[in-house]
Amino acid sequence: MSILEHPEFDGHEQVCFGHDPVSGLRAIIAVHNTRLGPGLGGLRMWPYESEAEAITDVLRLSRGMTYKNAMAGLAHGGGKAVIIGDPARHKTPALMRAMGRFIDRQAGCYITAEDSGISVPDLQVLAQETRFVTGVMTAEGPDGEVLTGDPSPATALGVFTGIRAAVRHALQRDDLRGLSVAIQGLGSVGYRLAGHLHEAGASLVVSDINPAAVDRAREAFGARVADADTIYGEAVDIYAPCAMGAAINDRTLPGLQARIVAGAANNQLQRPEHGRELHRRGILYAPDYVINAGGVIDVGAQWGDYDAAQVRQRVLAIGDTLDQVFREAGEAGEPPEVIADRIAERRFRA
Ligand code: NAD
Repeated sequence: MSILEHPEFDGHEQVCFGHDPVSGLRAIIAVHNTRLGPGLGGLRMWPYESEAEAITDVLRLSRGMTYKNAMAGLAHGGGKAVIIGDPARHKTPALMRAMGRFIDRQAGCYITAEDSGISVPDLQVLAQETRFVTGVMTAEGPDGEVLTGDPSPATALGVFTGIRAAVRHALQRDDLRGLSVAIQGLGSVGYRLAGHLHEAGASLVVSDINPAAVDRAREAFGARVADADTIYGEAVDIYAPCAMGAAINDRTLPGLQARIVAGAANNQLQRPEHGRELHRRGILYAPDYVINAGGVIDVGAQWGDYDAAQVRQRVLAIGDTLDQVFREAGEAGEPPEVIADRIAERRFRA
């Protein structure tokens, strides 16, 4: 299998394979672009069916981090790492330490953090072997809460700020009072986002496949509960996907009634043409990797001298970035996600 000619290769600076026969580690580190600084991106552990699947995933994710970090104004490029294996069955301290040594051999061109299948305690084991790890500290976060490396509060604040920017642009309003928002997924980010929106006077429609999560939101915020399968079609002003990817797809797009799509989930558009269709129908889409960058801003700050007030300012600046994206998109008559990619490329290719 050729890596250099892989369809997702996209000019990666380096792709390294790591193997440790004692712990059974099989891992890949991909560094897409370091023009703005060392590659920063999480470590994912997943039971990939094949090495080819893992390679495709790490290349896509690493490239995505270059765009995300550039748009978040971070002094970091894009990188990502994957461990091939089932976290429930194959994760051991020896494996995490072997991964730490693998990361250490990259000599700082890749800095790791949390992702699917990897928790903060795992990172703390990994950190016994390398200093190139972030998102493991305990401190006060941007909302005054105690941070334990969990990026969700910062992500939720960024999404809230991004929704305000989208409302300014699409509805010419500065406040959210009386607007309705459908939140799909009430996990670490979605529930906190619901809190911000409720406080700002928005009315909420929520769904989650976990009944306890919807009960909690109904009691705390007076949220109306919608069916998890059909929440996208609710007659609301804003649809906020905060669960899984590909929320905007062939099935959901025709029934969408919201004027704005703005949420935390990664890869909300199943395919690029779904973004073009949103644009054609006059539905404003806040590009996912721009609006959900609060977490990486927070984790990136933990790599240096953490300053909670500064992190908060940077997370709030997601609103300014989206203002720019929406303005340029309006002027060019093109979808916001196309403009966001272009702005990111200007930054990391400058
Ligand atoms: P989480 O796992 O804490 O929460 C996800 C929630 O979605 C869970 O409550 C789950 O029950 C629910 N869910 C799953 N399938 C659903 C469905 N079909 N309909 C309704 N609800 C469903 O995850 P999170 O940390 O809150 O992240 C949410 C999304 O935001 C994910 O896509 C994640 O990749 C993305 N994201 C998160 C962060 C972060 O800082 N946590 C940063 C960037 C992006």
